[in-house]
Amino acid sequence: MNQTDIINQVLEGMDDIRPIVLAARPDDMALRATTRHMISALERIKQAPSIPAPTYQWLCQLTSKLLDAEHGALLKPNPDGLIPEAAQHSIQQHCEQRQMLLMQALQDIPSTHFLLDQSSAMIGQKAAKDMALQSRARHLLKLLTEHLQHDKALRQEVQQLIEDFTPSLSAISDVLEQAGEDSPELKHAQQLLAQALPDNIEEARILLQRAHQSILQAGNKLTSATEKLHSTIQQQVEKLSSLSNKLEQAESEARNDPLTGLPNRRRLAEYLDQLEKSEFCFLIIDIDFFKQVNDTHGHDVGDEILQQLGIILQDHIRSTDLAARIGGEEFCIVFAAADVDTSLKLADRLRQSVEAFPFNTQQGILNITTSIGLAEHRAGKAIGHTFKAADKALYVSKHNGRNQVSIAACE
Ligand code: GH3
Ligand code: MG
Ligand code: MG
Repeated sequence: MNQTDIINQVLEGMDDIRPIVLAARPDDMALRATTRHMISALERIKQAPSIPAPTYQWLCQLTSKLLDAEHGALLKPNPDGLIPEAAQHSIQQHCEQRQMLLMQALQDIPSTHFLLDQSSAMIGQKAAKDMALQSRARHLLKLLTEHLQHDKALRQEVQQLIEDFTPSLSAISDVLEQAGEDSPELKHAQQLLAQALPDNIEEARILLQRAHQSILQAGNKLTSATEKLHSTIQQQVEKLSSLSNKLEQAESEARNDPLTGLPNRRRLAEYLDQLEKSEFCFLIIDIDFFKQVNDTHGHDVGDEILQQLGIILQDHIRSTDLAARIGGEEFCIVFAAADVDTSLKLADRLRQSVEAFPFNTQQGILNITTSIGLAEHRAGKAIGHTFKAADKALYVSKHNGRNQVSIAACE
């Protein structure tokens, strides 16, 4: 094989290897320039078959750049100008291996570009179009680092949320328990949240989703329990209020006369017990010939008169005094803050008012008169004593012709 054949062979090898080398390292401008120089040098050698020694040396140096240092050294020719056969073989083998590796890389490069781009897009931003493979990988690494840091912060945030949320869950659980509602869902959620969050973010997400679902179900139960509780309370309140009304009515009936609404004897006794004044005036008022009214106009008409008389009595006392019905057609008044003279005037004014009052009944307008006995209660005397004195004075009024006021003699 002459020099020209050898050069031709090298040129063919270069044609095969050059595109592969350039594709594998597209950014390596020095390599690109070197291979271009090599090819032009080889072309020149081919046109001038006798290779000058410096050119040959230069060619060897450049070629060795494409190989590693070990094989580059083998390119050194013998004194006869030939490269030993063993070295040629070794270099050839090395070149074939390189070629295979480069072919493999050439196949892998596009799919690696694609995978890096996809991964970058999934967690952040796709790499720029003209980025080299290494830059793309660096870009992905940067995104991954940021993502993992974000993930850590997110996990801490979720953990904090869970811790903040746990007391509320316990409170809901207590309310449900008190309302007699069993909530296994809530217990489940509590158990889930009590666990440490799994390292895998997807597993953590699923765990939180389950807890969320359980809490929602428990929440529905809580709503219905609250509604139930609310309606039970409402019923109890209604019962209580009706009971309280009944009680109020019973109390009122126990202390008031149902026909006139005036206080009865019981209320009168309580009033006298509570009266702080030891001296006051006491009136007994009795309707004159009331039996006749009943006999002539009927019992119902008598009732109407009793009711209207009750109102007249109320109109003639102060808020600190008391008017009460103490018998069939017998009433009394306690003037708590009036002396005998004033009480006499007040009693006579009452008598005149009754006499002048047109009682409106189902039988038409009727008139009645009253007889009144007045007694002054003195400190130290029993109330029964004063009552008797007033009753005696009333008898005097009746005896003296009715429709008048008499004062009990001081005893
Ligand atoms: P006097 O002038 O002497 O008092 O004569 P009087 O007829 O008023 O006295 P008497 O005690 O004889 O009659 C009282 C009457 O009052 C008898 C009863 O029919 C009537 N009376 C008592 N309680 C009621 C009542 O609640 N309703 C009615 N309509 N009448 C009553
Ligand atoms: Mg009477
Ligand atoms: Mg009477």
